[in-house]
Amino acid sequence: MSELLWGIDLGGTKIEGVILDPSRPEAAVHRLRRETQAPKGYDFILAQIEGVVRDLESVSGLVCPPRLGVGTPGAMEPSTGALKNSNTTCLNGRPLKGDLECRLTREIFMANDANCFALAEATLGAAVGDQVVMGLILGTGVGGGIVINGQVLQGAHGIAGEWGHNPLMGETHPCYCGRKGCVETAIAGPSLERFYQETAGARLRVPDIVRAAADGEAHALTTLDRLRWKFAEAIAAVINILDPDAIVIGGGVGNVEILYTEETRRVIERFLFHPTLSTRLLRPQLGDSAGVFGAAMLTNAR
Ligand SMILES: [Zn+2]
Repeated sequence: MSELLWGIDLGGTKIEGVILDPSRPEAAVHRLRRETQAPKGYDFILAQIEGVVRDLESVSGLVCPPRLGVGTPGAMEPSTGALKNSNTTCLNGRPLKGDLECRLTREIFMANDANCFALAEATLGAAVGDQVVMGLILGTGVGGGIVINGQVLQGAHGIAGEWGHNPLMGETHPCYCGRKGCVETAIAGPSLERFYQETAGARLRVPDIVRAAADGEAHALTTLDRLRWKFAEAIAAVINILDPDAIVIGGGVGNVEILYTEETRRVIERFLFHPTLSTRLLRPQLGDSAGVFGAAMLTNAR
């Protein structure tokens, strides 16, 4: 058995804790959760996180190690240590890492949920053995994380891997971030559903659009073709800069089969600064365990 790693995944509705043996990730040693109850506010969330740590101690009979990994919604601003861009809004502007270190008297290793996803898939999941891995969240929003040699790349602004707000050629739809034509406004789930509604006149959810396309429905086929081309343009820009060995595609839209086809790879090559694409596009392997496993793996940081 390897040294056990402890991780917490702070979500909008639940706080999950794990004790992980990284040599046998398929069998978490202990795993449990509490409700976040975010409307009760920041101090309550701190108490719930501490509660999950105490619950893990009590079920395992172990003492929490001196390093604890925590995955968060939103990112930490490196210049101030405050959380930002979290949809659990009471966390924004709060120094969560410092407050947890005081409360738990442990060193806290913190990263956002996209980075935890990327780290888990790179070290325990789909891209084990690859040196440079990009993990994408392609769902209600579009985010991502970069893992190099098993370490999360945080970046000078804490935004490494955030490809969702790069601009796309010819796109003008306003984005919540204040700009127009971001990747997220074209290929996030709600954006695909909006495009389908504008062309077909009816509202369908992404899985239903995929089913309709399989039945040959023209508007659904157009919507998925748009996904292919916009995804290809967006991800080629990432590959031109990062040149990863593997890209793991998580999130609801990440389930759409066309993202993994040879035809899509040929479209990516049209935007790529290289005649052929060798980067592997992979489905995630860890399912909803990636967040909490990635949080635990943060404590492996050098
Ligand atoms: Zn944006």
